[in-house]
Amino acid sequence: MKNKSVHRRSFIKTASIGAVAASQIVPSFAFSFQGSKQSGKLAALGGTAVRSNKSWPRWPYRDQNVLDEITKTTESGIWCRIQSKTGTVPTFEKKYAEMIGVKHCVAVGSGTQALHTSVEALGLGPGDEVITSPYTDPGTIAAILSARALPVLADIDRLSFQLDPDDVERRINKNTKAIMPVHMMGQAANMERFMQIAKKHKLFVIEDACQAHFAKYQGKMLGTIGDLGCFSHQSSKVLACGEGGNIIGNDDELMDRCFTVQNHGTSKRGRTETIGPKYRMNEFEGAILLGQLPTVMERHALRNRNAKYLTSKIKDIPGIYPQKLYEGTEEGSFYLYSMSYDKKLYNGTDRSIYLKALAAEGIGLSPYIKNGLHREPWVDNIISRKVYQKMYTAERLQQFKEEMVCPNCDIVCDEEMLMLWASGPLTGTLEDMDDIINALTKVYENRDQLSKV
Ligand SMILES: *Cc1c(COP(=O)(O)O)cnc(C)c1O
Repeated sequence: MKNKSVHRRSFIKTASIGAVAASQIVPSFAFSFQGSKQSGKLAALGGTAVRSNKSWPRWPYRDQNVLDEITKTTESGIWCRIQSKTGTVPTFEKKYAEMIGVKHCVAVGSGTQALHTSVEALGLGPGDEVITSPYTDPGTIAAILSARALPVLADIDRLSFQLDPDDVERRINKNTKAIMPVHMMGQAANMERFMQIAKKHKLFVIEDACQAHFAKYQGKMLGTIGDLGCFSHQSSKVLACGEGGNIIGNDDELMDRCFTVQNHGTSKRGRTETIGPKYRMNEFEGAILLGQLPTVMERHALRNRNAKYLTSKIKDIPGIYPQKLYEGTEEGSFYLYSMSYDKKLYNGTDRSIYLKALAAEGIGLSPYIKNGLHREPWVDNIISRKVYQKMYTAERLQQFKEEMVCPNCDIVCDEEMLMLWASGPLTGTLEDMDDIINALTKVYENRDQLSKV
C-alpha cells in the first residue's frame, strides 16, 4: 500500500501540470497513447472509439490436430477410458503429469469433480471443516459440500484477491482438517504461508489450481505444492475440452485412492472398495485435450508475454492496479488478467460507469464475481439440514453463520475488481495490448467527462 500511495501522489502532481508534462515524466504514455490524440472525447459521449471493428483471437482454441484426434477416437470405437490402457484419457494423464513434473494424474469430468474426489480421497466428510476462499467459482465449495463437510470461508487479500493466510489461521479449530487455497486468475496464492500453517496445525492442503495450469511459483508448478492439486478443463479455461478436470499428486497411495473414488469406488485391482461417484473423463474429452498439448505452451508463453507488457504499462495509469503477486511468482496461467479500480482517482465515478466508458472504447472488462460465496444462500440452506445439524453442534452452526464476514471480498466484488477475460485477448498481438492500454489511458485522461456517461 505504501508504494501505491506514493505513486498516486506523484501522479496527481504530474497530471495537474497537464498531459504534455505527464508524457515527459511517464514516458510510456508518449509511446502508447494514441487514442486520445485522435479524440479527446469519450466514445460513450460520441467520440471515436480506441478499438473498433477488430476481434480477439477466437476461443476455445482448436486446430487440425484437435480435429484429427477427435476423428481418431470416433473411428477407434474406444470411447470410454476403461476400454484401453492406451486410450486418450490414460495418455493425457501420463503426458500432463510429465509436463507438470508430478508422478500421477487422474482425469475426471470437471474441476469440481477433481476437488470433490480429492476431499473424499483424503477421507474428509461430515464433521470436518475445510477452510477456503469466498472469492472463487462455486465449484470450490461444491466439492466440500458434496462430501457433507463444512466449507469455512476466510477473507481475501484486497490487492492479490487471494485467500488471506492470517484470516485462515484465525478460523482453524479442532475440526479443521484441510485448507483449500485457490490460485485466483491463475496466479499463486501465498503457498509459503499456507504450507507453514498446514504443517503447524497438521492439515491437508488441496490446491484449487482450476485456473492455474502451468503457473510457476518458487520453482514449482502450482498444484504440486500441497497434498493434491486440482485443475479444470471447462471451456473457458486455458486447456479446455468443454467439461473436464484432473487431479495431480506425488503420493502413490493417495493418488491410487483418487482413481478409486472417481471410478465409483472401484479400484484398479477391480475391487469395489469405498464410497465414490462415477466421475470418469470420456475419451472424446481426452482427445480434445491431447490435441492441444503440442501447442499449449506456446499460448502459455504468449499470455505471459502479453500480460507482462500490459502490467508494465498499466502501472503508470493512476487508479488502476494490476493484481498483486506473491514473492516467488515466476509465471502465471493468465486465465484472467485482473486489476483493482480506485474510484477516488476518477472523481468518485462508480465502477459500472467506468466499465461503460471503457466498453464504448472497444475494451470490455468485467466486474467478475458479483458476490463472494459467503453472500450466497447455501449458508442458510445447509444449517437447516439434518446432516449438518447432526454432525455439528447448534452453537457451531450459529457461529459458522455469524462469522461469514469477509469485508475485503465485499469491496473487491462491489467496487474494485476489473477483470479482462484473458483467453481471447491475451492470446492476441502487442497491438491488441496497446488498444487495451490506450483505452484505459484515454478514460483516465478524460475522467472529467465520466459524470456525463
Ligand atoms: C472453473 C473453476 C472451478 C470448477 O471447475 P469446473 O471444471 O467448472 O467444475 C473451481 N475453482 C475455480 C477457481 C475455477 O475457476
